[in-house]
Amino acid sequence: MCTVCGLPKELCICEEVAKEQQRIIVKVDTRKYKKEVTVIEGLNPSEINLQELTSYLKSKFACGGTIKDNVIELQGNHKNRMKNVLIQKGFSPEQIKV
Ligand SMILES: [Zn+2]
Repeated sequence: MCTVCGLPKELCICEEVAKEQQRIIVKVDTRKYKKEVTVIEGLNPSEINLQELTSYLKSKFACGGTIKDNVIELQGNHKNRMKNVLIQKGFSPEQIKV
């Protein structure tokens, strides 16, 4: 039996849910005046220092950035390089969806 949901192990999806929750999603959004921002979602603020990570990414990409509701937004499109930079920062490649 799973101690979290009380279901037998073969029916339990808690572990998958936890993994899903840890998934980091990198995407590019277009804001007003067609400005592109790179958005990093799915970061767990209790595990990751978002302030520190944002500062790191801002200097790495030489751009501005903010944190809104535990989502990091960086000015410009950094989608191509983001995954490698996050991996260098200690995230596992399987965790990151670009
Ligand atoms: Zn469970």
